[in-house]
Amino acid sequence: MDSEKLGVIGAGIMGNGIAQVAAQSGFQVILIDVDNQALENGIRTILKSLSRFEEKGKISQKDIDEIKSKIKPTINFDALADVHVVIEAIPEDMVMKKKVFQQIESICNKEAILATNTSSLSITEIASVTNRPEKVVGMHFANPVPIMPGVEIIKGLETSQETLDAVYDLAIRFGKTCYLAKDFPGFAGNRLLMPMINEAFYILWQGISTAEDIDRVGTLSLRHPMGPLELADLIGLDTVLSILEYLHKEIGERYRPSPLLKQLVLGKQLGVKTGNGVYDYKDGKKKSRLF
Ligand code: NAD
Repeated sequence: MDSEKLGVIGAGIMGNGIAQVAAQSGFQVILIDVDNQALENGIRTILKSLSRFEEKGKISQKDIDEIKSKIKPTINFDALADVHVVIEAIPEDMVMKKKVFQQIESICNKEAILATNTSSLSITEIASVTNRPEKVVGMHFANPVPIMPGVEIIKGLETSQETLDAVYDLAIRFGKTCYLAKDFPGFAGNRLLMPMINEAFYILWQGISTAEDIDRVGTLSLRHPMGPLELADLIGLDTVLSILEYLHKEIGERYRPSPLLKQLVLGKQLGVKTGNGVYDYKDGKKKSRLF
C-alpha cells in the first residue's frame, strides 16, 4: 500500500475537484470513472481551475505540469489496488454506491480507508457491503472543492477512531478544516442547506419573486457568496433532487421537493453542467429564464 497514493472514483463536479486538491497536496491520484468522456472533461476542468490559480500568481506553469503529472485518469478499477485511501464521488444513489463499494472491497488493500463524498446517504448502509466497516467513513467536501475550506466528516456506526483521525489528517493536508456529524440523513450540512434551496424553488414556482431577486436575498441580505438558486445550478439539480427525495423519505414532509425542481430534472435541465437549469448558461454567460 502506498501512503502517497490515493484514489478518487467519479470524475464529475466533485471528483475532479477532489483529485485536483489531492494532487496539489502532493499525492499521486488514480482518477476513476466509467466514462472516458467524463475523465477527459474532468481533466479539462482541473486544468481550467489550475490556470485560474496561475493567473492569480498562486502557482506557476511548472506547478501545473507537476500537478497534472500526478493524476492518472483511468476506467480500470484495478489501478486502485495499492492506494491507501479511496474517495468515492459517483452520483447520489445508494444502489450505485453499494455496487462500487463491493467492487473496491475486493480490489483495494485490506488496510485502505474507503471514504464516500455522499451528501446525505447512510455511511453505515454503504459500509455494510464491505468487510471493513471500521474503515468506511463520510468525507463530504463542499463545491467547488479547490476553493471551499470545509469538510464534513461523518462517522458510521462502526467507523473507528483510527479512521476518523486518518481522514482528519488527510483533510488538513488538503488545506481544509473538518467538522464532525453523526450518520443521520443529510448529516448537518444538507439538513441546513437543502430546506433553503427547496424553499427558493417553491418561492419561484409560486411567482412570489424572480430567480434573480430570490438570489439577491441570499447575496445582499444573508451575505452568502451566491444565492440559493445559483447554488442549486452549481451543485446540479439532479443531485439536489436526490438529496431532497432521500430526506423526504427518511425525515418527512418538510423536505418534499418542489414541483419545479422535479420538472427541471425530468427535462434533463440540471444546471451549469447541462448548460441550463434555473438559469441559461449556453453562451458562457448566466441568463434568466421565464418559468
Ligand atoms: P456528477 O454527476 O458531476 O459526477 C458523477 C460522476 O460519476 C460522473 O462522471 C459519472 O460518469 C461517474 N460515475 C457514475 N457511475 C460510476 C461508477 N460506477 N464508477 C465510477 N464512476 C461513475 O456528480 P457530483 O456532483 O460530482 O456528485 C458526486 C457525489 O458528491 C454525490 O454523492 C453528491 O451527492 C456528492 N456531492 C455533490 C456536491 C455538489 O455540489 N455537486 C457537493 C457535495 C457532495
